[in-house]
Amino acid sequence: MSPEERLLNWVWYYDVPASSDSMHQIFTDIHGKTHHNTVLRGLVKPSVWLKHRALILPKITTPFRELLLGTPDPFVTKIRDAVCDETAAYLDGKAVLVGDAFVTLRPHIGAGTEQAAFHCLALEAVYDGQKSLHVWDREVRARAQLLGLLSILFKHMACMSVVPLLGSVCKLGGFWFTQRLGRR
Ligand SMILES: Cc1cc2nc3c(=O)[nH]c(=O)nc-3n(C[C@H](O)[C@H](O)[C@H](O)COP(=O)(O)OP(=O)(O)OC[C@H]3O[C@@H](n4cnc5c(N)ncnc54)[C@H](O)[C@@H]3O)c2cc1C
Repeated sequence: MSPEERLLNWVWYYDVPASSDSMHQIFTDIHGKTHHNTVLRGLVKPSVWLKHRALILPKITTPFRELLLGTPDPFVTKIRDAVCDETAAYLDGKAVLVGDAFVTLRPHIGAGTEQAAFHCLALEAVYDGQKSLHVWDREVRARAQLLGLLSILFKHMACMSVVPLLGSVCKLGGFWFTQRLGRR
């Protein structure tokens, strides 16, 4: 692939109040259908994209301006933090949730693929009889929770939101403390 053909995968975080008019407009596609979570490329209303882009363009530096101007049809999606409840194992351990089905990480941390691979590789020890599914669940869950908390912390750092950042630091401290207690 020549440099001219390379694609850049970028994410723009944009806070929108839940259930607001703005949220409704963004998630209503060119056909008037309102989506719960994601509006795919080609379905985002150009007026919505142009409006939001126009708000940020005067505030960003040239390379980012170029990036936004070079993106005619983005997709939009809500960012969620989700870790599956209670157990990842079903049908007596014959079906195990891994990857995004187990935990959804925020995209800016860029760890979703690595995590999915880690879940699968770590299962080898379970099927070899070296550890139980319960122990596997506890280990991958703790790692997922840590990554989730870190990703939220990075978000607040990048957005320079001081109060939420302090909240994130406290949550991370609380997590570290409970993990330490659990090991005793
Ligand atoms: C735009 C974008 C950019 C990303 N960038 C990065 C990045 O830079 N770095 C990174 O680490 N991660 C990134 N991720 C996240 C990463 O892609 C996911 O975390 C990773 O693919 C999760 O792997 P998975 O196997 O759990 O799920 P998936 O890769 O989603 O695989 C699930 C598969 O199941 C199939 N499927 C769904 N339902 C059914 C069904 N009923 N029957 C049969 N098959 C079904 C789907 O078609 C799919 O092939 C990005 C994600 C997106 C959307």
